[in-house]
Amino acid sequence: MMVLKAVKMRIYPNSEQRDRLMQTFGCARFVWNQMLNMQIERQKNNPEAKFVNAFGMNNLLKRLKEEYPWLKQAESTSLQSANRNLADAFQRFFKGQNKFPHFKSRKYAQSYNSKCVNHNIKVINNHHIKLPKLGVVYFRSGRLPQGKIKNVTVRLTVANQYYITVLTECENQTLAKTGKRVGGDLGLKSLLNLSDGYKEPIHHFEDKYRKKLHHWEKLRSRRYLLAKQAIAWDYHNKVLAPRQLDDFKNYQKARVMVAKYRQKIANQRLDQLQKFTTKLVKQYDIIVLEKLNIKGMLKNHKLARAITNASWSKLVSILQYKCDWYGKKLIQVNPAYTSQICINCGKSNHRLGLDKSEWLDAREWDCPNCGTHLDRDINAAQVILKKGLATQ
Ligand SMILES: [Zn+2]
Repeated sequence: MMVLKAVKMRIYPNSEQRDRLMQTFGCARFVWNQMLNMQIERQKNNPEAKFVNAFGMNNLLKRLKEEYPWLKQAESTSLQSANRNLADAFQRFFKGQNKFPHFKSRKYAQSYNSKCVNHNIKVINNHHIKLPKLGVVYFRSGRLPQGKIKNVTVRLTVANQYYITVLTECENQTLAKTGKRVGGDLGLKSLLNLSDGYKEPIHHFEDKYRKKLHHWEKLRSRRYLLAKQAIAWDYHNKVLAPRQLDDFKNYQKARVMVAKYRQKIANQRLDQLQKFTTKLVKQYDIIVLEKLNIKGMLKNHKLARAITNASWSKLVSILQYKCDWYGKKLIQVNPAYTSQICINCGKSNHRLGLDKSEWLDAREWDCPNCGTHLDRDINAAQVILKKGLATQ
């Protein structure tokens, strides 16, 4: 079976390559905005008009290139990718999964996508990759793309860092079967409690950067207000060229620093999830987790909770595709009452007669029915495992 895999790597383009990247970012953004505007105007003129699909937009692209010859400077497949992405965004909007597509601004993260034609995307060695229109670019990554390269997405983040995501198609590599199975309870004090007693900790990566992040966030909001005031005065005094936010270098610096620290925290969090999920699929053939109640999770406004929830969803989605890749199985079960059932005798403990908050604090107890000593987290994970295996 062939599967698609994506590898994200940080690249370090030289100044000439950065100029060319900016050109392609600009062209791809221009095409996106032009096509989006065209779709909106078409609707306005004739509400019955049908949406122009990616194929139709590619036809219009030819005319756009005649009108704006500088579009030819862009990496050629990137403009068609912009059309395809816009068509996807509209499809998701029609299905109610997305908001209406918005116009792109050069102030935010930039990206474009290049198709691989005639081996124009090629990994040369551990630190160099050949990319269309750019030539050889230096990169750093723990993993190299394996298999046939399909396309590459180039991104510039708000923190001014360049990343590429290389999509490849390769033969599915299954991992050796271990005959082991495991249940996992998504915890409150740890990220995941396994039925064999292991607890994956919740690392508070944000703590390390809290002071610095707070410092730059404060500067950013103060400088933002000052810049806004200065701009308002420019307008009030009717100066010829009123300054824009881009002209305030100190504000821009603070904005970039905030983005940089947030990126660092996010990278570390993702790194933990990647390592932990790889360990799980290597060790176990069947992994049973509780089904997440996304609606209930969205209601929670506490920050710490929100972060754990985001990590949980990410953990489950990573585990899902890794199980598919490596021939392992992920089962999700309804988590209702899993913490109240005794793994030994199968009877419900009915919260031991405690009220809800007291019950949530109870970490260990003896089963009133059979007397087995139970650890809250391990017991729940074992019950989840049993439930999952019962569905097989
Ligand atoms: Zn019992």
